[in-house]
Formats: sequence, structure tokens, C-alpha cells
Amino acid sequence: MYLKQIDIVGFKSFADKSQIVLSPGVTAVVGPNGSGKSNIADAIRWVLGEQSVRNLRGSKMEDVIFAGSELRKPTNLCEVSLTLDNSDRHLPVVFDEVTITRRVFRSGESEYYINRQPCRLKDIHELFMDTGLGRDAYSIIGQGKIEEMLSTRPEDRRGPFEDAAGIVKFKHRRKEAERKLEDTENNLIRVDDILAELT
Ligand code: ATP
Repeated sequence: MYLKQIDIVGFKSFADKSQIVLSPGVTAVVGPNGSGKSNIADAIRWVLGEQSVRNLRGSKMEDVIFAGSELRKPTNLCEVSLTLDNSDRHLPVVFDEVTITRRVFRSGESEYYINRQPCRLKDIHELFMDTGLGRDAYSIIGQGKIEEMLSTRPEDRRGPFEDAAGIVKFKHRRKEAERKLEDTENNLIRVDDILAELT
């Protein structure tokens, strides 16, 4: 699997529709200070479902939408798509190419798509679980991340290793199953109460 293409419109400094085509191997993004290099990494993080504005170097989610310049009015929405080559089936779907898209309006509405089909944020998380590319995964190492990892508690440091080992989805499913069991137990208690009232 490799990142093949990034399409950006209205995201941070990318007011116009921009397309970045990548080849397998190493790609370096170079440019003067403030030209938008880190905004590309932010766009990738954002489309993968990042919810923390701090991780996107903003103070509110609206900060990801192009805020206007001397010559241009602000835009009302932004959209980022990542196209991944999946011919090795690293992602657990039958498609050779997977495109994920996130769109947000200034009003706050957010939309997610997998191969142009509307989906939930949860579906995006599940698609990337244990692939190393998820929102919290280790494939994007931001400035200061290494120091942060070295200074965090050992339990927190375990996260990226669990992702690499491929056990995150099982932990997630276990949590979901435990939640359902708890709901069912509560429903049973409720049924017992009703039966007691009726008898
Ligand atoms: P450096 O090399 O200094 O780290 P960089 O190339 O990584 O810089 P970025 O941090 O990606 O640059 O981009 C910063 C630019 O993006 C600034 O000029 C800032 O005004 C612009 N920018 C950030 N958010 C928005 C927004 N919402 N609307 C318009 N421009 C924005």
C-alpha cells in the first residue's frame, strides 16, 4: 500500500483545487517558510479523522478552512481526499485503489466518504486500524512527537507498538462486545423490574 494522490481544496492555505501525485519511494516536500508544507501533513491527518484542533495547529475546527487573503474571499468548505494504492490488499477491502474523503462546512457539518460512498468516521477508523496509517498511528511523526513519546508513561507508549502488532482491532472489538454485554445486562435488569411489577 502506498499513498498515491492527495486532492485538496479550501484547506488552510490551499484555496484552489490542488492535486499532489506521489510515486512509491521517498518524496520530499520542499519550499520556503510558511509556504504550506506542514499544511499538507495536516491535511493527511485531518482526512484520517483527526478531531483534535491542537494536533492540526489550530484553535477551532473552522481554522482548517481557507480563511481568505487580501485578494480572495474565505471559502465556505474544505475537502481533502487521499487515494491509496491497495493492490497488495494491505487494507482489508477488495479494491485496488481506496479513496477516502473528508469535507467540512463552515457551519460545522462534517462528511466522510470511502470510494465516494458516504460513511461514518467510525468506518474510516476501522478501515485503518492496525495498518499503521490511522489517526493515532505511527506513520505521521510530527515535530516533537519523538520527545513526547519518550516522556510519556510506558502504558501510553505501548499504543504505536500495539498498532504495529495488529492487535488494536481486537481490543476495539472486545471493548464493543463488553459495551453490548453491559447494555444487555441493563436491559435484563429492566425486564426483571417490569416482570416484578406485573406479578
Ligand atoms: P515552515 O517551513 O516555516 O514550517 P510551512 O511551509 O510548513 O512552514 P505551513 O505551516 O504549512 O508552512 O503554512 C503556514 C501558512 O499557512 C501561513 O502562511 C498561514 O497563514 C497559512 N494558513 C494556515 N491556516 C490557514 C487558513 N485557514 N487560511 C489561509 N491560510 C492559512
